[in-house]
Amino acid sequence: MPMLPRDRAELILALGKAGWSVNAIAEQLGYSPTTIRSYLSGRKTPGVRTARTRLLTDALADYSRQRLTEDPHLRPNALFKELKELGFQASRATFYRELQQVKQPSDPPSHPDQDLLDLAGRSRLFTDAHADHIRQCLARDPNLRPNALFKELKGLGFQASRATFYRELRQVRQSAEARSDPDRDLLLDLVRRSRPGAGPGEHTVVLPRPVAPITGELLSSYLPRLAHANHLTLAEVLAVLPTWFTTKINNPDELAQHHMLAPATTDALSALARLARTNPQHLAGALPAFGAAHTRGPVRATTACRCCTARRGVTEPVPVHLPVHLKLCTRHGIWLSDTGQPNLDVTGCPEIITAQHRANRLLRRYTPQQLVLAHEVALAAVPPWPATPADIPLHWRHRLLTLQTINHNRRRDIGTDHDAYTRAAKYPDVIALVPGILSIRENKQDPLATSPRPRPPRRP
Ligand SMILES: [Zn+2]
Repeated sequence: MPMLPRDRAELILALGKAGWSVNAIAEQLGYSPTTIRSYLSGRKTPGVRTARTRLLTDALADYSRQRLTEDPHLRPNALFKELKELGFQASRATFYRELQQVKQPSDPPSHPDQDLLDLAGRSRLFTDAHADHIRQCLARDPNLRPNALFKELKGLGFQASRATFYRELRQVRQSAEARSDPDRDLLLDLVRRSRPGAGPGEHTVVLPRPVAPITGELLSSYLPRLAHANHLTLAEVLAVLPTWFTTKINNPDELAQHHMLAPATTDALSALARLARTNPQHLAGALPAFGAAHTRGPVRATTACRCCTARRGVTEPVPVHLPVHLKLCTRHGIWLSDTGQPNLDVTGCPEIITAQHRANRLLRRYTPQQLVLAHEVALAAVPPWPATPADIPLHWRHRLLTLQTINHNRRRDIGTDHDAYTRAAKYPDVIALVPGILSIRENKQDPLATSPRPRPPRRP
């Protein structure tokens, strides 16, 4: 009988203490009753890690991996602070060294540069073979820089100079932004003549169409939407806003509250509210770039609930940052997957929605970090999704089928084999284990228990 990972063994003890029967634990965790009994009777003790060479425990490593996946722009420093709160003892230098080991060999790729893809499709300088090659390169490495791409093309006999290549790229970028509209020139003229920071009594530009922000929306999404609704380019909107905005949206992590930018935040907020004819409190409460309260804890990157955005008349997907424990919109029953994965309608599985409410309630007693860590431990304790359909437990199979049916009918583009389905289907089982894990950790004087007092719960 192989030794179980410590977290799972501890979980068996915790469930036993909580009054679960041997069979119930065996069924829940997917181990034989004999194994369960051997731990409950004390014949076996949860394995103590021998010769621990790494200071990040498995649980903290899982926590870090999860945070890096769900918030691709998370800065190491912010992660270090979260781990400190969870009781991580080692120095910052040790942390950075170990972080390298935690990061997956292949970090999740971001989206390929759309402008480079467009260039491949449009430029007359390229042969079809060049264009195909560019698409392949970008598919292989979405972070490919224009300069590296230029070198690749040179190797394939591309004739034009670097300057020509960049000029074409610039043209693609500009034409992607340009929109033709009869009102546009008039409006543009108005925008050009007014400058930010106009004194009292001077004319201040106000855009004709106000655009309400979506909770958790990034500036890099809100500003283009505002521009588009008013038939302007992003550059034109940025031109009438304080430079604070240009700096912010050029920063891959616009949530970082840089100390140089902080003093100008209030002015920036009122300038944008004036331009967009929106209430400043409303803007500040919705956009994390202004330090929105709900995103002061750890956040995850996802796409906003399509029903919430549709209520505001927005049909395109809106990238948002939400508190890390929020996996779904409980109002509409939409499962919010990590960025790049489809959101799912889970209204057919009310227990998934109930599980989210349960997680929300746990935040009254625990910090978001503690909750995420316990979630990771629970995820490791729940048996992996079986490879053969026949082995899938009945209740999972039922959920999977329900989710596949609802979502496949609604949106043809979501394949029925997507990971998002199994994640959503497992979620209630995972959350069911979390309170037990949190309480053993508390009772055992685990570093988790010595974390600072939990913050009050937050609503999305
Ligand atoms: Zn919603």
